[in-house]
Amino acid sequence: MGKIFIALLTMLCISCNTPDHPGNKVWAWMSGANSMTAEQWDYYFKKSSEAGIDAILLECHGGYPKTPDDTTSFRDSAAIEIITSALPYAKKYHIELHAWIWTMNRTEMNLRKAHPEWYQVNAAGESCLDIKLYNREHYRWLCPSRSETLNYLKERVAELAEIEGLAGVHLDFIRYPDAILPYALHESRHVVQDRVYPLWDFCYCPVCRGRFKALSGMDPLDLEDPTSNEAWMQYRWDVLSYVAGELCLEIKKHGKTASIAVFATPEESKKLVRQDWAGFKNVDVFFPMIYHKFYGWDDERVLSATKEGVRALKAAEAGGYLCSGLFAGHVPPERLQEFIQYTAEGGSRGICFFSVQEIDRIPGYWEAIRKRFGAQP
Ligand SMILES: [Zn+2]
Repeated sequence: MGKIFIALLTMLCISCNTPDHPGNKVWAWMSGANSMTAEQWDYYFKKSSEAGIDAILLECHGGYPKTPDDTTSFRDSAAIEIITSALPYAKKYHIELHAWIWTMNRTEMNLRKAHPEWYQVNAAGESCLDIKLYNREHYRWLCPSRSETLNYLKERVAELAEIEGLAGVHLDFIRYPDAILPYALHESRHVVQDRVYPLWDFCYCPVCRGRFKALSGMDPLDLEDPTSNEAWMQYRWDVLSYVAGELCLEIKKHGKTASIAVFATPEESKKLVRQDWAGFKNVDVFFPMIYHKFYGWDDERVLSATKEGVRALKAAEAGGYLCSGLFAGHVPPERLQEFIQYTAEGGSRGICFFSVQEIDRIPGYWEAIRKRFGAQP
């Protein structure tokens, strides 16, 4: 009886985005581009508003950013332009707008040209600028140990966070490249990853090796099985957590919400992408991307993954709250309610959909969300 009552209560609460329940929002990620027309902006924000979406995480710096040739000024004017183009529509339809950026994964050509030494190096001694990791042009990753990296990212975050009317900055790709890809992707990407291989094991740049040696007396390149060396794993987790915490602090200094997109569970994140997100400080909202089919998981794992994240944040006294992210393509519109129930039972505050464009692509999706969260006639 008690369990049913709690389930009903969580079902009710997820839709009541009143001042009494400010955390229970309906969120969605959305791609942005400088080429988007007024009609496109209006269409997506109107559809989102009608469906009951409260907040949009708008991608303004992704894998293929528009960057100038200038290697002396790195101000991300293209990202700022995307946000300022979208803001009037967010305001018109009463949607909270957050600037979503890729963080450690930075592909801008001017930065690559000016500072190739800031990029991560694998255990085989190859820079991620010199190889096409996973055959992806956009897999170019900054080293978290370098103060230059942190300063650069702080500047990019600050220039967005100071935009008037913006609610927050959302950090994605705040991790290392995949040491191991999510399990269900191995076949389609033609990789064998029964363990961590040097090609996919980062960062062994001179700065990381030097800093770790100063701490432990060991050169990580001398380790026979680096993944089983706790100190070396811990070093990489910690240095990334430090960067995440500092960037979130920068966002908050501007009075904005700091949020992050992370892998599905704390344990999988640590293992696959060396992201110990439960240990990140200064985060207001954690969005685990519980895209369960990429992991080859059953649907019910959405519940247990949410629960694991909530538990880990509580244990780490992280401060922020968790909002589960669902991949629309993995959640049929007719079963939306079932999946929302999984996240609510797991302890998620609100729900986040990937993505506005994905929702728009799948017949019946807008209607399903509107039926669940939109204003009733
Ligand atoms: Zn490094």
